[in-house]
Amino acid sequence: MSELFHPATAETGRLSRSRRIVVKIGSSLLVADGQLKRDWLAALCDDLKMLAKAGAELIVVSSGAIALGRGVLGLPSGALKLEQAQAAASVGQVALAQAYADALGGRGLTAGQILLTLGDTEERRRYLNARETVSTLLKLGAVPIVNENDTVATSEIRYGDNDRLAARVATMCSADCLVLLSDVDGLYTAPPAQDPNAVFLPEVPAITPEIEAMAGAAGSELSRGGMRTKIDAARIATSAGTTMAIASGTRMNPLAAIENGGRATWFSARATPASARKAWIGGHLEPRGTLELDAGAIRAVVDGRSLLPAGVRRIEGGFSRGDAVRIVAPDGRDIGRGIVAYDHRHAQLIMGRNSREIEAILGYAGRAEMVHRDDLVLNDQTLETAPCDTAAEEERGHA
Ligand code: GLU
Repeated sequence: MSELFHPATAETGRLSRSRRIVVKIGSSLLVADGQLKRDWLAALCDDLKMLAKAGAELIVVSSGAIALGRGVLGLPSGALKLEQAQAAASVGQVALAQAYADALGGRGLTAGQILLTLGDTEERRRYLNARETVSTLLKLGAVPIVNENDTVATSEIRYGDNDRLAARVATMCSADCLVLLSDVDGLYTAPPAQDPNAVFLPEVPAITPEIEAMAGAAGSELSRGGMRTKIDAARIATSAGTTMAIASGTRMNPLAAIENGGRATWFSARATPASARKAWIGGHLEPRGTLELDAGAIRAVVDGRSLLPAGVRRIEGGFSRGDAVRIVAPDGRDIGRGIVAYDHRHAQLIMGRNSREIEAILGYAGRAEMVHRDDLVLNDQTLETAPCDTAAEEERGHA
């Protein structure tokens, strides 16, 4: 097998330079003969600690529930029936989450468990909820450990593989880096086990039809994903601004190895997560309503701040939370687009009011922002012409 890859010249520090990293762990790395590989997990958690110390926010998407559970329940090897896989996942997920909690806890990191179904990442309202939970965990310094909720997912409504799930989690959380660790060390021009002329690809700048054709179908016995689902994951991730790496996790400390320039196939992101999200908001969503801002709020958003309820003076349309809305000036001028954090009824009740009053008015502690600045896209014209008076806004409390 020929190689184009020279570790001595590979780029180092690619992980520690990332702000938010999703690491996907394949079942075969974590479980052997139905038993958890505790030493491997401990070494992985050393790596995670190293990245956390470097300032990265970490999310782990871990497989292994079914593989662990089938060992505990003594189920036969080979394909499981759906209900057997669900039972195995139920038993195995408890052990899996506990193992992460112990291993991370021993290193001063707190683990949180998140079990997702396909609908949680595809339906807008549930997507927003999941995103909110992950971002709150990260703000609190915890490490979300994500898996598919295999005990309730049926074959029709499931991801079935954690490669694509990890990519959706990465885009949902605007991660700038996704690492898929499995027993595959990267992408080759042909399946390396069968073709002695297969060439390893260290960098994939774009997912061309040629790259798609290189994805064979093979996976190992324990994990469901092969190269096909990894290329699907790369397409999801890179088009939303997340750089993705495929690397082998079969050695100890696989993340440290990547950090030191070790072997991996890197798929370049096509945009930054923020610009991809803003392009999506600005271009692809049909606005369901309108928010009219007062002059102070216009200055605040032009300054790059969020839109608070206090700065909204009129609302139109029957929008729901998570819908796109048009943002307009008092003279009706179109200023931009945003994703609104309240449905129209609640937005009506809190508009013009201080964010501290939200809980008293609505009966629950909603978001302080009507439209968060990450969810706001202004027209180029607005940005060029609008006045900018930061000091006055700070006094008025437009955070
Ligand atoms: N969610 C499955 C599990 O935890 C694994 C899916 C996969 O291997 O990609 O067992």
